[in-house]
Amino acid sequence: MKVFLSVDMEGICGVVGEKETDPENGGEAYRANCRRMTAEANAAIEGAVKAGATEVLVADSHWNFDNLIPEELNEAATLLRGGPRPFSMVQDLDGSFDAVLCVGYHAMAGTPRAIIDHTFTGRIRSVEVNNRAVGETGLNAYLAGEFGVPVVLVTGDTALAAEARALLKGVHTVAVKEAVSTNAAKHLHPRKACDLIRMEAEKAVREAAELEPLVASKPVALAIEFKHTENADLAELEPQVTRVGGTRIEFSAPDFREAFRIFYACLHMA
Ligand SMILES: [Zn+2]
Repeated sequence: MKVFLSVDMEGICGVVGEKETDPENGGEAYRANCRRMTAEANAAIEGAVKAGATEVLVADSHWNFDNLIPEELNEAATLLRGGPRPFSMVQDLDGSFDAVLCVGYHAMAGTPRAIIDHTFTGRIRSVEVNNRAVGETGLNAYLAGEFGVPVVLVTGDTALAAEARALLKGVHTVAVKEAVSTNAAKHLHPRKACDLIRMEAEKAVREAAELEPLVASKPVALAIEFKHTENADLAELEPQVTRVGGTRIEFSAPDFREAFRIFYACLHMA
């Protein structure tokens, strides 16, 4: 059984501010968060292995994709580290995998009482897939769905857990913290967070065959609402997109992989 584990940092237990997730300016706080991120990744790997996973590909999916500490990662895993990567947080995921686990994730841009709510960058106000607002969890779940693979576990704060459950039927979630604002939260003890992640990862991987992948209907209509007109001015350089008003672009693609490639190109342009 093959499991894909995508690990971000904002949803890790203990993380509350963007600066402490910044490899260049985060200093000791950032390095502490790398250790916590590695511990939560290990908890998920242990749970997956207990449930019968024989291969676990771990995609480091925060900032420059080089935060997890290789020596400290569970030896059962293979680590995908560094970028650029056209499929970003789920690079090299394909139909040979049985389940996707998302650890340390955060809620979509604009979510109230959610730690560092954003969608890929701070320049995006919202993203819609076939008229449905989604964040990183949804976009990655649609990519996985293209290969028939379900997202079975999502961990982060309570707002993210609610977002995941609203989108993904039967998904397992672990809330390691409850935000009171975008930069403050009440936290479980980090060891307790890891225990819960290990337990839910095991249950989720055992149930993987019963969970439905999230499949986008085709053709896929994708819209990006930016925060500033300049972002849309630059994203509009992508030939596939249509400018709609000051801050919005829209496009359509034959499948979700293609939609994501155009989305990601727009994002880098903007
Ligand atoms: Zn991140």
